[in-house]
Amino acid sequence: MGPSLRLIKIFGIPVEINFSWIFIFLLVTYLLGSQFGHTHPGWPVAQQWGLAVTTSALFFLSVLAHELSHSLVAVRRGIPVLSITLFFFGGVSQLSHEARRPYTEFVVTVVGPLSSILLALVFGGLWYLLRPYSESLEVVFRLLMSINLMLGVFNMLPGFPLDGGRMLRAAIWGITGNFWRATQVAARIGQAFGVLMVLGGVSLAVLDFALFGVSGIWMALIGGFLFSAATASYRQGRVREGLKSFRVSDVLTDDWWTLPGDMPLGSPLVGQRLARQNDVVMVSLNGRVEGLLTRRLFDSVPRSQWPFTPLSRVMMPLGSMPWLAPEDTMSDALERVESSRIDRLAVRNAAGGELLGVVSREDILRFARRVLHIKL
Ligand SMILES: [Zn+2]
Repeated sequence: MGPSLRLIKIFGIPVEINFSWIFIFLLVTYLLGSQFGHTHPGWPVAQQWGLAVTTSALFFLSVLAHELSHSLVAVRRGIPVLSITLFFFGGVSQLSHEARRPYTEFVVTVVGPLSSILLALVFGGLWYLLRPYSESLEVVFRLLMSINLMLGVFNMLPGFPLDGGRMLRAAIWGITGNFWRATQVAARIGQAFGVLMVLGGVSLAVLDFALFGVSGIWMALIGGFLFSAATASYRQGRVREGLKSFRVSDVLTDDWWTLPGDMPLGSPLVGQRLARQNDVVMVSLNGRVEGLLTRRLFDSVPRSQWPFTPLSRVMMPLGSMPWLAPEDTMSDALERVESSRIDRLAVRNAAGGELLGVVSREDILRFARRVLHIKL
């Protein structure tokens, strides 16, 4: 998705704006402003553009409200939310893990479209009440009502990863008890909707470009996005399913190297070991492994500081790392590594005891490619 800008925290959830969002915000504002110019030529330019900016700001706040409803219910249901990102086509709530039960997935999902429809009702009510008094408010509230209604209805299409697709998956999962089967069905329908939207959008644009050009291309773009997101979810589901029958101990290597915590970063041994041991070395304090040093941490310290910086000051302490047990499934490992911001997990024996090794995201994907014959 490219780089994002962290804006604010709402209820402790960081809200980020992807750079593609800024482009879309400007585009929507521009389209609205020029539309107002056509439909209300009597409006002064300042009013035209002032209303365009207000409408798109309220539109994006509506998208944020939709995502926030998913996130708040997720938190209430015991699923921590890492962030909400607003981007090109809407918003994404990044949950720390998927729902463990179909019912949870269903409630976390259903509140999104419901809140969009509720917003449509609120804006519709405002439109109805204020219609006789102000032409500008009439226009703004009518637009916001229809946008939120569309947002709610579109999201209820039963194709994964749209909200409707998630609800369908939760329903099939609840009935059959088979998560993978449910993901397959919902993702296939998502792909089909994507293809239909691309075909529909292109046909509309070809049929009458002057009338449907912009909306046709827009529809085709969203369709393409939906198709690729559904395809990615399908593949991800397949990998997860395939990895369920393997254990973390299957990829665990005890091929690691320990360096003492008081050794300076500048020691030639550090760079040498990082290069040889897959960009990671363990760091010990008083003879016990207490942390690890990755290439990224190593590179984060300016070279001029290397001679005076001991490994223990830069290392990632084991205690702060997410960890796995050797008997956890590879599927769990993948989910954990994908939801944490660190690309390596410590493997320790039960109850966070002795360190047995480290598994990286790359290790898991390489293993998946090998045993499942999937291109990743
Ligand atoms: Zn949603």
